[in-house]
Amino acid sequence: NQPVCECNSCFSGPDCSLFLPGCAADAESGDPLFLEPFWMKHAASSAILIAGWHRMSYRFTRASSFISQELEKKIRKLHSITGNAVTENRFIIFGAGSTQLLNAAVHALSSDYNSSSSTARVVASMPFYPLYQEQTDYFESVDYKFEGEANLWGNASSDTHLVEFVTAPNNPDGQMNKAVLKGPYAKSIYDHAYFWPHFAPIPAPADEELMIFTISKLTGHAGSRFGWAVIKDEAVYQRMLAYISLNTMGVSRECQLRAFKLLKVVLEDGGNNIFEFGYNTMKKRWENLSKIISLSSRFSLQEIAPQYCTYFKKIRPPSPAYAWVKCEREEDKDCYEILKAAKIIGREGKKFRAEARFVRLSLLKSQDDFDLLLHRLDEFISKE
Ligand code: PMP
Repeated sequence: NQPVCECNSCFSGPDCSLFLPGCAADAESGDPLFLEPFWMKHAASSAILIAGWHRMSYRFTRASSFISQELEKKIRKLHSITGNAVTENRFIIFGAGSTQLLNAAVHALSSDYNSSSSTARVVASMPFYPLYQEQTDYFESVDYKFEGEANLWGNASSDTHLVEFVTAPNNPDGQMNKAVLKGPYAKSIYDHAYFWPHFAPIPAPADEELMIFTISKLTGHAGSRFGWAVIKDEAVYQRMLAYISLNTMGVSRECQLRAFKLLKVVLEDGGNNIFEFGYNTMKKRWENLSKIISLSSRFSLQEIAPQYCTYFKKIRPPSPAYAWVKCEREEDKDCYEILKAAKIIGREGKKFRAEARFVRLSLLKSQDDFDLLLHRLDEFISKE
């Protein structure tokens, strides 16, 4: 049977071939559907079928844990073939997407300070992924408080404990951020959601105290909700484990089985198939978008320097997940509204704590969505 496609907002009809002329290009969400054609090609080898009796227990039988050891092995292998993270002598824990692990990490690193009973200040460098603040505020705790911009806090001291979110590559601007805070009272949570050959060169394996990854932007299965953390310190690992156990008793076993099957396909040829596909798709999208934007005096894009990638063994041009667009004209203060009037929906810069003259455009969605984005941009810029 042919898969049934869901039409995006600009197409209708039984095979989604009817174009609706007045519709807007939606580049708002980070839904990674650019990988859908890859999985259509690998439909049979990536499929799973689960018998009714399978994996009914709370636990995996041999290990008294909520974690599949076979999946953990695949994850370690994945890091070793991509060369993006050190996992030897590190603990690994699973979460319902990286979203669950981000707060588990804040909890674990802040309760580390509990002996001195001070509240940890949670910070990040602007522009940053809004969920860090939304989640930290929402799960309000006596142990931690979101305080905004990392740079304002200088170095941590015994009475100012800091937990810094570091996103590398960064969402929204694709930069390989590093922690700005140093010292024994500053801890970092490295969010490596986009640290895969699709989106960025891999200069060397990351070797941070606490690193978080997700399949959402690796295989594109954002809906499966599977992420993992790689942790150096056993006490931090134990606190994150307690959080996950009390919160959900681990990740759904069906989800772990699906992640296992997907990673099996990813690893089949040392990752070449998926990373070549992902990188070539994102690189081409960036080239096409840059070409159009370069014709405009009104908009500019972030600059990302080409860098040597140890995975592809070559210097590679940029292939970021998002365009971080700036409206250059003095009077264009609200870039989101300007693009919206041109039938382009992005995500407002303000949501990332940046000025309103920035907008994030997602380059991760389906080819139809991306083509329409180019079409609307071309239409607007050609009238300049
Ligand atoms: N971190 C960053 C930087 C992200 O952009 C996202 C998703 N947009 C996440 C974490 C959350 O991903 P997940 O689907 O694994 O919860």
